[in-house]
Amino acid sequence: MKPLKLLPLVFLMALAATALPAWAQGPPGAGVVAVKAGRLLDVRSGNYLNDQLILIEAGKVREVGSSRNVQPHVPAGAKVIDLSRYTVLPGLIDAHTHLTYNPDSLGYRGLGISIPREALIGAHNARVTLEAGFTTVRNVNAGGYTDIALRDAINAGDVPGPRILASGPALGITGGHCDEDLLAPQYHAFSLGAADGVPAVMAKVREDIKYGADLIKICATGGVLSQGDNPESEQYSPEEMRAIVQEAHRLGRKVAAHAHGTVGIRDAVLAGVDSIEHGSFIDEEGIQLMKERGTYLVPTLYLGDWLLENYQKMGITDNMLAKARYVLPEARKHVARAFQEGVKVAFGTDAAVYPHGLNAHEFAVMVKLGMTPLATVQAATLNGADLLGWSDRVGSLEPGHFADLIAVEGDPLQDVTILQNVKVVMKGGEVVKEASVTK
Ligand SMILES: [Zn+2]
Repeated sequence: MKPLKLLPLVFLMALAATALPAWAQGPPGAGVVAVKAGRLLDVRSGNYLNDQLILIEAGKVREVGSSRNVQPHVPAGAKVIDLSRYTVLPGLIDAHTHLTYNPDSLGYRGLGISIPREALIGAHNARVTLEAGFTTVRNVNAGGYTDIALRDAINAGDVPGPRILASGPALGITGGHCDEDLLAPQYHAFSLGAADGVPAVMAKVREDIKYGADLIKICATGGVLSQGDNPESEQYSPEEMRAIVQEAHRLGRKVAAHAHGTVGIRDAVLAGVDSIEHGSFIDEEGIQLMKERGTYLVPTLYLGDWLLENYQKMGITDNMLAKARYVLPEARKHVARAFQEGVKVAFGTDAAVYPHGLNAHEFAVMVKLGMTPLATVQAATLNGADLLGWSDRVGSLEPGHFADLIAVEGDPLQDVTILQNVKVVMKGGEVVKEASVTK
């Protein structure tokens, strides 16, 4: 009964607050967070700006400028976060995660993991990913709509985690990379996203959207960590892919295509997908088509290093390992060529193939394959935001954008491995990883 009795009082207090004259409403900075940044990376120009002040209100950036100037200044009553000994960057974006999976979810051991358990794995990995500096991710495939539940739980404040755009179950052909191929026929195992033929794939796009998908993920070719399929083979026909893209775009959703093989990459790009994930065997034709159409490449490279060192821990099958040993080193040659020729790149990891939280290890591999450190940071900020369709809210610290930022020690443009050791993370103007904890 108590809460009921309190209600009228709360109502009266709210009324009184709105009726108060300006002088009685507290100092002008009440509710404002002022971040003092020792230096701030302007991700557009690549320039460092020294002694910057970032004013945050209601979770969003209100103003950014030199703290030496009169404007902006710290308003009286503002909460001050002193990052003056750090380098501050916008929160990072990972455009290819699987938060609800772990490395041991991928072989036969994964068959023992229930959908509710998968969701809780996701809750753990969401926090780990956020604390690694990734304040926004695009999750591209999960079982049982667990990624969508996770997104909603984070948005409701139930569990900490990055902002998520979630695909729900990835669409794939029966028996292909995005279907369950580990069990004998009598178990009747299939993945939720399995769909064949134009009417079925259109229905599946609508079904994913019905249950909350922000984007559509498809498996255009076979994959590495799946049983029996060939990464170099095209799976969906061009006709099926065109139907998926048309339906998704008509309903306001972008399409991400898992694609290793040359033909599958080409046909997915021609069908109009918004990004090619992995791109392992991309050739000159694919590169030129992607440049003409502005299709993003989301390479996932570091996983090769981790997997080939740790595969015994993962419980993957011999067939998966054989494919990994062939495809992953090969992919680096072709992706390096795509970097060199100027294909648009958004940062992605495929985290789940290796433990979540190691996402920033991807930067060093991208640099090794020819990207400049600044270009890798732009891939994880401006380009990620553009690919997600969120350039108006994430990817740069500008007025009106979410106050998502990270702080590191040193110069990540000299050494991108510094990004593997993020000291402070803010999401929506709140510190979610403390400097004091990590000093
Ligand atoms: Zn993936």
